[in-house]
Amino acid sequence: MTLFRFAFLLALPLALWGGIGAETSSALREVQLDGEECYRVRDLELTRGDVKFFLTDGFLVFSKPVRGQPVVAVFSTDVGAGDGEVLMLPPNRDERQVLSTYTKAPNLDEHIKEAILFFSDDSASELKEQIKANDWIHRDADRGAAMAAQYGRIVRGLIPPFGTRMMVDLLNHSHEKDQFFAAVLAGRDLGAFEVIFDPTSPEQLMAGGLSVQDGARKFQLWASYTPKSLAGQAAIQEFRADHYRIDAEIDDKLHMLVSTTFVVSDLQHDLRALDFDLSRQMLVRSAEVDGQAAETVGDEGPGTGGDDQSDRLFVVVPGDALHKGTEHTVKVVHEGNVIAEGANHVYFVGSRGRWYPHRDLDFARFDVKFRFPKNLDLVAPGDAVQDAMDGDERVVERHSDVPLPMAGFNLGQYARTTVQRGDYTVDLFANKSEAEDAAEGTELGNRIADVLEFYAQRLGPPPLKKLIVSPIPAKFGQGFGGLIYLSNMAYMNPSGKTFAEAEPGAKLFFTRLMQAHEVAHQWWGNLVSTEGYHDEWIMEALANYTAMLYLQKTEGDQAVNTLLEVYREALLARNEAGVMVESAGPVTQGRRVELTGKPEAWIAVMYGKGAWIMHMLHARMGDEAFWKMLAELRRRYEYKNLTTDEFRALCAEYSPEGAPDRKLEAFFDQWVTGTGLPQLQFASSLKGGGSHFEVTGTLSERGDFSADVPLEVNVKGRWVTKWVRPSGETTEFRWGFDEKPAGVRLGVILADTRH
Ligand SMILES: [Zn+2]
Repeated sequence: MTLFRFAFLLALPLALWGGIGAETSSALREVQLDGEECYRVRDLELTRGDVKFFLTDGFLVFSKPVRGQPVVAVFSTDVGAGDGEVLMLPPNRDERQVLSTYTKAPNLDEHIKEAILFFSDDSASELKEQIKANDWIHRDADRGAAMAAQYGRIVRGLIPPFGTRMMVDLLNHSHEKDQFFAAVLAGRDLGAFEVIFDPTSPEQLMAGGLSVQDGARKFQLWASYTPKSLAGQAAIQEFRADHYRIDAEIDDKLHMLVSTTFVVSDLQHDLRALDFDLSRQMLVRSAEVDGQAAETVGDEGPGTGGDDQSDRLFVVVPGDALHKGTEHTVKVVHEGNVIAEGANHVYFVGSRGRWYPHRDLDFARFDVKFRFPKNLDLVAPGDAVQDAMDGDERVVERHSDVPLPMAGFNLGQYARTTVQRGDYTVDLFANKSEAEDAAEGTELGNRIADVLEFYAQRLGPPPLKKLIVSPIPAKFGQGFGGLIYLSNMAYMNPSGKTFAEAEPGAKLFFTRLMQAHEVAHQWWGNLVSTEGYHDEWIMEALANYTAMLYLQKTEGDQAVNTLLEVYREALLARNEAGVMVESAGPVTQGRRVELTGKPEAWIAVMYGKGAWIMHMLHARMGDEAFWKMLAELRRRYEYKNLTTDEFRALCAEYSPEGAPDRKLEAFFDQWVTGTGLPQLQFASSLKGGGSHFEVTGTLSERGDFSADVPLEVNVKGRWVTKWVRPSGETTEFRWGFDEKPAGVRLGVILADTRH
């Protein structure tokens, strides 16, 4: 009797945790190749997105089924004149350019020796139909047994990065069309590489390879894009998560135990599995759906490239399917160490905004409650619900009605300064321990209130009426809705010892630009957000450039010119191989822009070239139209995600009449999705008299450039823009005036004028 009870108790957790999720996940991890299902094949073909896989001549073996059908197939060309081929043609110019830096060609056309295909879609039935229809193809069980022995372990070794993703599909859409598909390929020239098709990703197609750099294996993303066939369709979002209630306890070792409850809605289908992203620093302890225990299954171990900074996929599997259109409450208990303590009671919150289960593209509402040691201060955005002492602990509770892209908080030992300005409150928190060289709190608080007012007058109100400003021991800042982080450098007195020997650009950056940049993110990033990293440059460029326009007002033109020149120099710099930073990649590649020996290349491109792009648009539209465009951007895309092409279309609406390239297509092709700076020189002369004057001249361009170049002519004391589209090395221009022009100059353009 005793033994039986013991066994029953042991069985209980198994019943809870050994459900359909764990079952599917372990079936995938232990998947076996089925030697009986091996074929000598010719001329099979699969298309995923717009990538074509040709299994021209070789052997194909399928795996044993998982949830009814095979999930893996291995193709080998190890036979006489065996062959296979992969063909990928990225539709965008920037992706073709990046691809060619890795593969020496703008299209991927590679003959392959082997392919291992992982799929939760209908690939097995699609291939088997082709096999059936071809009389020549025949089964070869002997070869099947040999391939099962040769590839079995390799397959199981490769499945972990795909397993959780495949499990979600297999539970929600078992083997339907258009699900996850990944091919690991052995190329004849390129070596090992991967092609992945994932319809739930904002960019459904991805290709990349592993490289070894300084002894470490690193995944290189060669291409990532939306195929033409899916252009204009948003990524498939199976459901939404909103109305978060996060209850976090931080103990005296800074370990966090968190209970996160939220509402799942907008189910597009009946779902057996709900997938979320979560920081790798957080471990999930348990989950419930509508009060009933649910299974959790998640990726383990380090992310791609061995880092533990990226998010991981984790999945909640309720006991029963959730039905299309219904709403459910999900509770996840998770714990981990995302806060690090530095010297002098300064704390660093890692995994900022990713420390709770979230869906990548959603705006959501948050109620947060933190319990933490009473010697610390904790700041979080929203209306104060509770600020209380409870024995050795403090409790801080905040409520926000406004949707935000992520929930941030900060922790430290702070001195607080409050500045009230009209409708807005700035709550400035500074590290108590760093008072020596620090700027005066009220002065810094006032400056931030000024910035807030400057933007609010032009763009409409920020998402929250109260802005919390807090320090981070790092060289960067970050702007959450209602809460910004400033580098502790930004708290320092500009005329103090910290900046005594700093470059003017660096001093300007930390003591002026960063504050205005992070405040601007209240609009750019927290009211309007972007679809993915390809569009992220818009938010960074706008935050940076509108910050520069604020600086122009407070510090004068010289401050803006200094920063523009710092950015131009950074873009013109070359690495040891002589490659210019600007040509490392277009702004739309965002954080993917890499250049050997210049790790800061992506910063120069996204922030520096991004600011220049806005500066050129500003010059083209004029000040009034530019700010109108920005206000309209906020109005039209509030709580929505913006794409680069939508931004181009909006800017085009504010392009002045009479200017060339009204749709800004050449402008965006050149500056946004392309690379290359014009190397410009011009010469002009003036003829005529009375009321007939003529300016003639030539513009020479030696770079790789195909957009319009602005020249400005001074007429009646006003600079009038004239556009010249370079064709060939030298382009002539001729303009008539009825008054005598007083001079010609180059307009606003990011040019290489050192020649
Ligand atoms: Zn920024």
